[in-house]
Amino acid sequence: MLSIYLKSPGQNNTKVAAKEAARPIQIVLANEEEHSFELDEAALENILLQDHVKDLNVVVVSVAGAFRKGKSFLLDFMLRYMHNPGESWMGGEDEPLSGFSWRGGCERETTGIQAWSEVFVVERSDGSKVAVLLVDTQGAFDSQSTIKDCATVFALSTMTSSVQVYNLTQNVQEDDLQHLQLFTEYGRLAMEEIYLKPFQSLMFLIRDWCYPYEHGYGLEGGNAFLKKRLQVKQNQHEELQNVRKHIHSCFSNIGCFLQPHPGLKVATNPYFDGRLRDIDDDFKTHLAELVPLLLAPDRLVEKEIGGNKVTCRDLVEYFKSYIKIYQG
Ligand code: GDP
Ligand code: MG
Repeated sequence: MLSIYLKSPGQNNTKVAAKEAARPIQIVLANEEEHSFELDEAALENILLQDHVKDLNVVVVSVAGAFRKGKSFLLDFMLRYMHNPGESWMGGEDEPLSGFSWRGGCERETTGIQAWSEVFVVERSDGSKVAVLLVDTQGAFDSQSTIKDCATVFALSTMTSSVQVYNLTQNVQEDDLQHLQLFTEYGRLAMEEIYLKPFQSLMFLIRDWCYPYEHGYGLEGGNAFLKKRLQVKQNQHEELQNVRKHIHSCFSNIGCFLQPHPGLKVATNPYFDGRLRDIDDDFKTHLAELVPLLLAPDRLVEKEIGGNKVTCRDLVEYFKSYIKIYQG
């Protein structure tokens, strides 16, 4: 309704109205009682069939993982970068963060997939334009049945994204790998052309990394750490070997980024509103490395399915057919 008042002849005003209206939209919802899944087709179409993006190749960056691990916080910084990708993209010292966490604590925690309603058009250095969709995927792992729901939701988001950021805290535990194997097994079964690696990029993001003296913060340290963690060894239990082989066989590209702890204000102060002043410098330094790594124009990875690039319009159809597999 606000937009009615803002609709004036000036182009700028319309742009402001669109920006203010941008928000996270639930596109896939898990029904916890019935263990069923629902795709909100109308909502997805509203996002992806907008005239200025529908025929562009799409880049889908998804952040996936359990609740309360800082996914929305990271996505809000990704939004800042997308809105203003210059030197000072991170913003002013005292600007509260907004975006995915917009509705704060009163939002019910739901297992499912949310997409940002605004699709960003980015021009790369070769002049080509792509559409960037940001996606938040989350679930709870508290019972056998919710693990299965989560696996389905994560599989869907992995199948539909070009970069999946797997958000974990402190370390990569064996059960994080097993969950990943389960998600990807679900996804793989659903994909027909398994002679190609079914998924594109997977980035393990380890929050609150506290062993920087063993493996330094950032991508280089992360990749060295992950290489060790995913190593298949002769004397390892067969199950552990299989999880590792499986993960390697599913993704064309696997990386890991070690992110420092953001400081106590972020982690524990209930009045923290996301302003930079309250965040530890180490965290900000590495955030400044992480976000462009995922979103800088020439690093964007276009979504491919079966070896072909996919437009926003195509993605709608893929979502519809993938969700059917799990509704069956
Ligand atoms: P989500 O449920 O995964 O989306 O988590 P949120 O982004 O809503 O963050 C949950 C809580 O963790 C908030 O109080 C944040 O201030 C805090 N937080 C955000 N990032 C981090 C982080 O890297 N480490 C820690 N320890 N807390 C964080
Ligand atoms: Mg969240």
